[in-house]
Amino acid sequence: MTVPQPLVETRTLGAWTVHAIQAGGQALDGGAMFGVVPKPLWERRIPADARNRIPLGMRCLLVEHDMGLVLIDNGAGNKETAKFLDIYGIENTGREGRTLLEDGLHSLGHRPEDVVLMIDTHLHFDHAGGNTFRDGAGKVLPTFSSARYVVQRGEYDWATRTNERTAASYFPPNFEPVMEAGLLDLVDGEREIVPGIRLVPTPGHTPHHQSVRVESRGEVAFFLGDLVPTSAHLPLPWIMGYDVEPLVTLETKRKYLRLAADEGWLLVFEHDASVAWGRVVHDGKSYALASHP
Ligand SMILES: [Zn+2]
Repeated sequence: MTVPQPLVETRTLGAWTVHAIQAGGQALDGGAMFGVVPKPLWERRIPADARNRIPLGMRCLLVEHDMGLVLIDNGAGNKETAKFLDIYGIENTGREGRTLLEDGLHSLGHRPEDVVLMIDTHLHFDHAGGNTFRDGAGKVLPTFSSARYVVQRGEYDWATRTNERTAASYFPPNFEPVMEAGLLDLVDGEREIVPGIRLVPTPGHTPHHQSVRVESRGEVAFFLGDLVPTSAHLPLPWIMGYDVEPLVTLETKRKYLRLAADEGWLLVFEHDASVAWGRVVHDGKSYALASHP
């Protein structure tokens, strides 16, 4: 697999500039990514390799907000072993032992220290692994040292009290150093965290997963996170096998895809290898990408 290109895509949203930054490539089992959907159906959308894996991205959204840089999710970070990266098909190595996300920020003229607000949709390793980094001396430190980090309180509790099914996704070095540094804010439920940026609980993938609604001058972008990981997951029953509450995901998708279609939101697809964003239409049967975004 190769890292999905381009690494950075830029557009305006109302008064703001937003950037989709590809934090790296990932390759996961196609069957696990599509749950109960039979392979003959899903492989028409995303063909699998010899190991039955499909190519995915780990896309983050950077908002040039009036108050400073706001980043949503941060990929897999630089702390995992080569064996781990191979199992999950992760290719995210950047310059000088850091990450592609940091290379993407750099290409826009920014440093990690310039981010003032770091929003985690949830704390799985492929979304929040970049919360922290391992420095040259082996020490794990918050990557965005000047930022407030934000996650739902219930997600933090879920991440710190794992069971046999959930433990493989949550690694304390991805969030404990942020808490210990006093940089992590825990939020309960829906909240406009800064003007125009609203945390929206979208349960199902995890019970306290959140998406992020960004609005400027009447234009709305919605960072889905793992609610709809790729544009191939737009049909309501196309739900990942990884979700801990798939029937809750179904109802959450029903609610937010209807709003997105009715109100013309720009949806941002975190794991899509090629489609960063798009608007959706309902053709009477199912949701699909609009042909003219
Ligand atoms: Zn994910």
